[in-house]
Amino acid sequence: MIIPILVACAVSAYSGGLVGGIPYDVVMMHGLLLYLQSVADLWPTPVLGLGCLIGLCLASLERFCIGRFFHLPRFERKHEEYHQILRMRKVTGNFSSKDHLTESVTYAMLFVVLSIAMIPLERQWKEGIWLGLLLEHAIGQQLRLVVQLPYRYLPEFLHAFHQNIEAYYWHHVLIDSHACCGFSSPFWDSCFGSNPFPQRFRWSTPLPFVDFFFIRYDWEPIREQLASFRVDPDAFKTRMLEKIDPAVDI
Ligand SMILES: [Zn+2]
Repeated sequence: MIIPILVACAVSAYSGGLVGGIPYDVVMMHGLLLYLQSVADLWPTPVLGLGCLIGLCLASLERFCIGRFFHLPRFERKHEEYHQILRMRKVTGNFSSKDHLTESVTYAMLFVVLSIAMIPLERQWKEGIWLGLLLEHAIGQQLRLVVQLPYRYLPEFLHAFHQNIEAYYWHHVLIDSHACCGFSSPFWDSCFGSNPFPQRFRWSTPLPFVDFFFIRYDWEPIREQLASFRVDPDAFKTRMLEKIDPAVDI
């Protein structure tokens, strides 16, 4: 069951990182389809559906934990380098192949750890949770591409949603790197005190991306910060580094 996903990660690492001919997101989608095919005999059962919901919530928690992890004092200054890459990507559209490779290898490792953790579970629960996790990973990957690159077409009915995910994602990278750590769902940020928006919890659910359909996040401060970044990227980075505790420079 895990093999199609590992193959998808390996192929995407190869194609995105070394050849650059096949888009990473297309390969991830193929991995998901291969997986769906492999659990077709369990489809549909309530346990699979419940497992899927648990998997979706676990995935949004996973995103939040990863976001918080990189802002531990030990890693924060180094992680700011990555934020600078993201900001440059937003204004230039450059998406280096190294990023594809790093992301693929990281997720392959994460999937191995998760599959070991789920060994004791019965097959239906296991596959349901995997389904939720992988759905979030596949959709989240698409949405990260949407927000990270300068222009990406989305149908008109998704325009408000698009602006909301952009505002939430870029608040972390442009305004306050201790806020909005969980791009997948603001729920965990709200629980742990890192959601700065006054409307937190109004629609909040750990299910990925649901909040962004219902909560309006202000895009204007993000536009101002992006404009300021464009004027002098290095000075912007220096200002962001100054916000990090200089006493913990490792
Ligand atoms: Zn960060």
